[in-house]
Amino acid sequence: MIRKKLIAGNWKMNKTSADAVQLAQDLVTEIGKVVDIDIVICPPFTSLESVGKAIDGSTVKLGAQNMHHEASGAFTGEISAPMLRAFFATHVILGHSERRQYFAETDAAVNKKVIAALKNQLRPILCVGETLAEREAGSTLKVVQTQLEAGLEGVSKDLATSVVIAYEPVWAIGTGKVATTEQAQEVHAFIRTLLTKLFGEQVAQKVRILYGGSMKPANAPELLAQKDIDGGLIGGASLETRSFVDLVK
Ligand code: PGA
Repeated sequence: MIRKKLIAGNWKMNKTSADAVQLAQDLVTEIGKVVDIDIVICPPFTSLESVGKAIDGSTVKLGAQNMHHEASGAFTGEISAPMLRAFFATHVILGHSERRQYFAETDAAVNKKVIAALKNQLRPILCVGETLAEREAGSTLKVVQTQLEAGLEGVSKDLATSVVIAYEPVWAIGTGKVATTEQAQEVHAFIRTLLTKLFGEQVAQKVRILYGGSMKPANAPELLAQKDIDGGLIGGASLETRSFVDLVK
């Protein structure tokens, strides 16, 4: 089974709309015709529409960084799946560790978002990963299992292939400390085993599992050569044309 690689840029809370459009245009020029891997960029909400227009007609896809599980209503400050769809977003990052850590997102909340995203034809990029303390305590696999199983509760076998998983060890995010290829592959293989238990072998072999955490052009080839690493969720290195283009290439 050959899974198409996926490289997603998580721009986090960076770039004004004008800066975002500039970066998107530069990316389109350099990698806007790439078809052998999927490329997704996830700007802040405020730039979704303008970046969506900038990448229109290219192979680069649009993603958001979060959403609310309800379609509409009295949720001040929130954005819903139908709103993302209206900007032609195809992907949404859910349960990023920064959301879990700073905005108290629980597994149950993340699960509701995953279900709502799928219902609205958005591909969730479900993030899981352990903190440094959890790794040092030897509970990495347990933490990942809990987050994964809770996050995917109620997802049908049919829709499971639309889900993307991102394994992001929290200690590797934005720290320059990348997981070793062995550490990453071990967890990715474990996630694939869990997916097999949940959805069966056929589905599990189709689901893309991305690595995230200080992925850079220099360390990407070795990570991406691992059997169960199907792409990357890129923070810092996605904010600049050169590094993101080099990573994709
Ligand atoms: P980083 O971020 O590449 O800057 O470590 C990755 C992420 O948080 O998705």
